Amino acid sequence: MVTHMRHTRSQTGTRRSHHALKSPTIMLCKDCGQPKGKHIMCANCGKYKGKVVVDIQKKIDKKHAKKQNKSK
Ligand SMILES: [Zn+2]
Repeated sequence: MVTHMRHTRSQTGTRRSHHALKSPTIMLCKDCGQPKGKHIMCANCGKYKGKVVVDIQKKIDKKHAKKQNKSK
């Protein structure tokens, strides 16, 4: 460390005063009312902006099938 790099605690603290994390915005799904992240597809019904983006039931079935195959 070089002398001119040295900062006081105050300078460091002032810089870090902008480093706080913001909590993610939680919204309620318009279709099923479950909480979901903003600009993120609803994990409960697979919809985004009122349109079905992911077939959740199909995904669940696939997951179960994979689990059953593993246990054999
Ligand atoms: Zn939903």
